[in-house]
Amino acid sequence: MKEQHIEIISIAHIYIANPRPRSRGRWQMMVANIREVGLKKPITVVRRKEPDPEGKEFDLVCGQGRIEAFVALGEVHRGDLRRILLNSLPVDTIRWGHKVTAVSPLDGGRHVLTFADGSTATTELLVGADGAWSKVRPLLSEAKPAYAGTSFIETYLLDGDTRHKASAELVGGGSLFALAPGKGILAHREINGALHTYVALNKPEDWIHRIDFSDPATALSQVAEEFDGWAPELTALITDGETAPVPRTIHALPVEHRWDRVHGVTVIGDAAHLMSPFAGEGANLAMYDGAELGEAIAANPGDIEAALLAYEKDLFPRSASAAAEADRNLKLCFDDNAPQSLLDLFISYRSVK
Ligand SMILES: Cc1cc2nc3c(=O)[nH]c(=O)nc-3n(C[C@H](O)[C@H](O)[C@H](O)COP(=O)(O)OP(=O)(O)OC[C@H]3O[C@@H](n4cnc5c(N)ncnc54)[C@H](O)[C@@H]3O)c2cc1C
Repeated sequence: MKEQHIEIISIAHIYIANPRPRSRGRWQMMVANIREVGLKKPITVVRRKEPDPEGKEFDLVCGQGRIEAFVALGEVHRGDLRRILLNSLPVDTIRWGHKVTAVSPLDGGRHVLTFADGSTATTELLVGADGAWSKVRPLLSEAKPAYAGTSFIETYLLDGDTRHKASAELVGGGSLFALAPGKGILAHREINGALHTYVALNKPEDWIHRIDFSDPATALSQVAEEFDGWAPELTALITDGETAPVPRTIHALPVEHRWDRVHGVTVIGDAAHLMSPFAGEGANLAMYDGAELGEAIAANPGDIEAALLAYEKDLFPRSASAAAEADRNLKLCFDDNAPQSLLDLFISYRSVK
């Protein structure tokens, strides 16, 4: 995808795809393991490289969404999932390469979209699925994403088991959380053997913008300085990064973000409820919102406003609950008590049977 884009789909062309194809057998095994461990809910389930001596095949870990779990289980790859969703739409439904630059209301709930190439389109129903910096959201709400106080630097070490053995052993078969007050190294093993790391730092937002990431080696050593004295297997996840490091400032909308009904327009996914990734639910919620909206439209033929009301009624508490969890988890991962705070959280999950 060269350009950012948005879909313009007339309602008659919305199809609901099951976003979670999964193997029943594997799912049953996962559930059995979850019950055995006794956690309240798995934030992520990852397959072990080798079953443990008791035959346990999966680990429950925090910090990734269920899509990654499905990837780890070999059930659905992100790219495959995207293809499944795209293939569920009629040919030519999606108009690629249309970056929205402005959205203006017309009468009767219609809106006019202006694209970067100067062309325009008029909508009867406008659904903004355009992410964190949505151009559609301002029609509904004045809320803007705020910096959450934490920045990530994303790195990859390829072929972990052969080329980065010490780090690969440390990361193990699932995810690694190495936390301290105000900072952490969060890594997980991908199905292709890569070690994927988010280096997290509680810093002012301009701190990360002042680093010159066009010079990866210098940028990474500057980031690694923040972890001076940490185990070399851990700092290697930063300094041995083999892809261009990606800085990511974490932003969030207010936990209770909501709006009054506005005729002919709504939003789904991050546009509706941007949150830090620490609930591991952002991608799941985005797909869930889409499915719920589709169902609401199907259940209210000829009455879009009733459909949008029904969709938003459930959307608001659902997103507020995940956003509160994300906010809490982000704070406790890097608070003054880290890493004990995360351990306490896991222990509290164990006690809820
Ligand atoms: C570091 C990090 C780690 C994360 N880890 C996880 C995780 O482990 N699990 C999880 O579930 N979630 C995770 N998330 C969150 C997850 O990525 C998002 O919640 C999810 O991608 C939201 O989907 P979306 O479709 O709403 O928005 P996006 O994925 O942002 O998609 C928005 C789309 O709109 C398009 N667009 C934007 N602006 C315009 C415009 N003006 N005109 C036309 N098109 C436009 C974009 O090109 C894009 O295709 C993570 C996020 C971050 C930052």
